[in-house]
Amino acid sequence: MKGLLTVIGSGPGDPNLIVPAAKREIKKAEVIAGYPKYLKLLGTLIDGKKTITTGMRKETERVEEALKTAAEGNRVCLVSSGDAGIYGMAGLALEMLYDKKLEDVVEVKVMPGITAASSCASLLGAPLMHDFCVISLSNLLTKTELIELRLKLAAEGDFVTVLYNPKSSRRVELIETARKTFLNHRSPNTPVGIVNDAYRDSCTVDITTLEKLCDDYENINMSSTVIIGNSSTKHIGGHMITPRGYQLGIN
Ligand code: SAH
Repeated sequence: MKGLLTVIGSGPGDPNLIVPAAKREIKKAEVIAGYPKYLKLLGTLIDGKKTITTGMRKETERVEEALKTAAEGNRVCLVSSGDAGIYGMAGLALEMLYDKKLEDVVEVKVMPGITAASSCASLLGAPLMHDFCVISLSNLLTKTELIELRLKLAAEGDFVTVLYNPKSSRRVELIETARKTFLNHRSPNTPVGIVNDAYRDSCTVDITTLEKLCDDYENINMSSTVIIGNSSTKHIGGHMITPRGYQLGIN
């Protein structure tokens, strides 16, 4: 009998936004692995279960331990925030499965979840109605020059752009690089949405403009997602809306 490692996404934070199939996997698992902060958000779902927790930036150790526990014949659930397949643990789990040649003893299953782009967009209104891209501003695993190039191309291509990991205590410059880059290609009045802690108790939602985004840098951190509109995105009645192109006869 192979062990099973299911990689699931816990969504933005509210247990109601964990997809039912993933919730079932959590309930069936004997062992739950994940970053302590995200496991806490699972509340009573993991009561009484054995957990594997390691801190931030200890991802490889956590995944290795989860695979080892599954290889011993256990049913293990590895939890990422949002969608596990988007800047989550799914890739590392699969890479390590083959790297450690565990594929004959462990089955790795990846389940979809609600990523920050979706949850934050829903709180802002409907900013992702047209072509969009997601760029992480974290330069821990990606070279700064490559992030800068991707920002430039997204701005040139008029993509609505979702910024993950927009600013950390150590890395504060890239959000300003993003603002300047987009100002080269878009109006200063382009709506920009900032969502902190979507679907958590501390959730905040703001809509500003590309020009004024710098006034909000203090409120932007690693729990924020920033969505920069495209050239047609509007801010109407507290909502950020990117027209899909339907002719309503009102514009
Ligand atoms: N796998 C996650 C992304 C991990 S990268 C997902 O699919 O959502 C971490 C970044 O995701 C954060 O820096 C932030 O930009 C974004 N994020 C995750 N959860 C969030 C939330 N509840 N509210 C706002 N942004 C969030």
